[in-house]
Amino acid sequence: MSLHDDVEEILLDSQTVATRVAELGAQLSADYAGRDPVLVSVLKGALVFLADLMRAMDLPSSIDLMEVSSYAGTETSGQVRILKDLSKPIEGRDVIVVEDIIDTGLTLNYLLGYLADRQPASIKICCLLDKPARRLADIPIDYIGFTIPDRFVIGYGLDYEERYRNLPYIGVLKPSVYGGARPEG
Ligand code: 5GP
Repeated sequence: MSLHDDVEEILLDSQTVATRVAELGAQLSADYAGRDPVLVSVLKGALVFLADLMRAMDLPSSIDLMEVSSYAGTETSGQVRILKDLSKPIEGRDVIVVEDIIDTGLTLNYLLGYLADRQPASIKICCLLDKPARRLADIPIDYIGFTIPDRFVIGYGLDYEERYRNLPYIGVLKPSVYGGARPEG
């Protein structure tokens, strides 16, 4: 029994992801040449993307990590609880928010307000996967790896109940794994 047995379809294989991440890294390196941006990521889904993206960037960048959890019953407000805050002030810094996937956009919408209140010099968003079908908050995404259809994906950092993050590709889970109703998110 292997993790791969639970995958219905590979949406983006590891080579395709690696090629695109290298392109994003090169683009960010060009756009931020001469600057020293801070990459702000949200645990845990963006970890694998962040690890690969930062190594594809030829810049003196730094990283910071946040962890958030959604308040139960406030799905439409996008209100989140900060479990782990930034470790350093971002005032006057060029912030690049590195996200795994943007679905409704509510989490990021809240986070953007939170970060903007800390008066960075600039904020841009770099997400690996954009799933526009269920978008509720209008978010300007500056860098997009791939636009994907409205399917629940796992792998390359993305989980289902904390599993599958270590799959090297992005795939669609077999419905039999979650027993019918598609997971939210
Ligand atoms: P949003 O607030 O944009 O609806 O959701 C953002 C978060 O929901 C993502 O950071 C991710 O953790 C989770 N999410 C959204 N879509 C998916 C998906 O297709 N697969 C997985 N594993 N998580 C998802």
